[in-house]
Amino acid sequence: SQKKNTFKVCIVGSGPAGFYTAQQLIKARQDVEVDIYERLPVPFGLVRFGVAPDHPEVKNVINTFTQTARQSRCSFYGNVDVGTDVSVEELRQAYHAVVLSYGAEGNRTMGVPGEDLAGVHAAKDFVGWYNGLPSCRQLRPDLSSETAVILGQGNVALDVARVLLSPLDILKMTDITQPALEALAESQVRRVLIVGRRGPVQVACTVKEVREMVNLPNARPEMVGADFEGVAEALKDLPRPRKRLTELMLKTALEVPGEKEQQRRSEASHAWGFRFFRSPVEILADPERSRTAGIRLAVNRLEGSGEGARAVLTGEVEDVTCGLVISSIGYKSLPIDPSLPFDSRKAIVLNNMGRVQRAAGLYCSGWLKTGPTGVIATTMNNSFDTARSLVEDMDLGTLDVSVVKPGSQSVAALLEKRGVKPVTFSDWEKIDRVELSRGEAVGKPREKLSVTDHNGHRQEM
Ligand code: FAD
Repeated sequence: SQKKNTFKVCIVGSGPAGFYTAQQLIKARQDVEVDIYERLPVPFGLVRFGVAPDHPEVKNVINTFTQTARQSRCSFYGNVDVGTDVSVEELRQAYHAVVLSYGAEGNRTMGVPGEDLAGVHAAKDFVGWYNGLPSCRQLRPDLSSETAVILGQGNVALDVARVLLSPLDILKMTDITQPALEALAESQVRRVLIVGRRGPVQVACTVKEVREMVNLPNARPEMVGADFEGVAEALKDLPRPRKRLTELMLKTALEVPGEKEQQRRSEASHAWGFRFFRSPVEILADPERSRTAGIRLAVNRLEGSGEGARAVLTGEVEDVTCGLVISSIGYKSLPIDPSLPFDSRKAIVLNNMGRVQRAAGLYCSGWLKTGPTGVIATTMNNSFDTARSLVEDMDLGTLDVSVVKPGSQSVAALLEKRGVKPVTFSDWEKIDRVELSRGEAVGKPREKLSVTDHNGHRQEM
């Protein structure tokens, strides 16, 4: 019988979506070869640059991704910015199928006056800063004021709050970058308010993250009892995970603590608290109008109940003095190619089960497919779904393998012509070993490295 051609597939982005899609494709068919192109010199996306440094267990997925990358039918090309160094169209020419899984690199803005003042940061940048993301290395957030306000009440908001308030001894044992550690050592931030438009029953975080706040050494909760009016009565109708979460917040806000806990709270030098029913109206400047001095919040009331409740303005406002505002109101995918059918309102690529609309051979997975919500396990499932759609198209012959595709060979030629030098997985493994041993020398699991990016600038990774 005739020798079958190899299915050449490329994946754009090496976060969980990229790696889980690759893993599933390689497993499903022996005749598939996968090349992963990644903008940064190093792999793993938000697992490396998003997940909080004090959540090392979450980063264990890297072991699985590494196994995938080491397979002979999988190649990694870091330092390749798709859309700039090579176009989506060029990839489509070179491969039978292209899977876009480049995540959500933009962030939603608040759209309020003062947003550009010094002292206001997007959570994405602040997180990138403490995790060593190249583009955020120079952030240098001003930590000289007592109160920080975080807008948004999802897990990212709580990660940021925890990093701001954690004792240095704890952070020192993580892979947080050295510059961030040094800045946090000088931090004057003692109080973090986590602000949300709606009420306790609508927060977007999970119970684990709230428990971590409750258990933070040297920090006491500072809640507003009145925010919890009617919440105890609503508990019984809540689905289980939300019920546990709400119970914990309720207990933290209203229950009179035992003697030991009272003692602990009165001795704590730091405080944190949720502020519910508040929306940002304006970032207030200092008299020189040079930096943040506070934030004006509108007071809301809720219309409706449960998940679908809407925040409605009451007309009242309230000013909070603070020198740092971090907006954690969501990440946002960006179209990297004008030809992509992109829903700019939802900020996702229009797709049907991972098949990009009106573009045969083009697929998407991860946050680009679903929008920036959910944990790594959610991303894994939706990536497996996309891989399944792709395999189905191979099995049914919708994807034409009769044409031989050049794959990485032709892309390598294009990149070379354009002066782009890809980083291979074995290059990364060398970097990895250096980072691990540098970490070991200072009692940390890893010390992230500076290397040269493809433009020749030195960048922190
Ligand atoms: P990403 O992880 O963002 O990967 C996308 C990759 O594409 C990146 O490597 C990026 O550099 C690359 N890329 C972008 N543009 C291009 C381009 N033009 N060309 C080539 N490559 C490109 N989940 C948990 O389960 N536990 C946690 O504790 C947790 N903490 C989190 C903390 C933060 C701050 C955030 C933001 C998320 C967290 N998550 C956590 C969620 C988890 O990170 C996501 O579910 C997951 O990373 C989404 O995977 P992805 O592959 O779609 O996107």
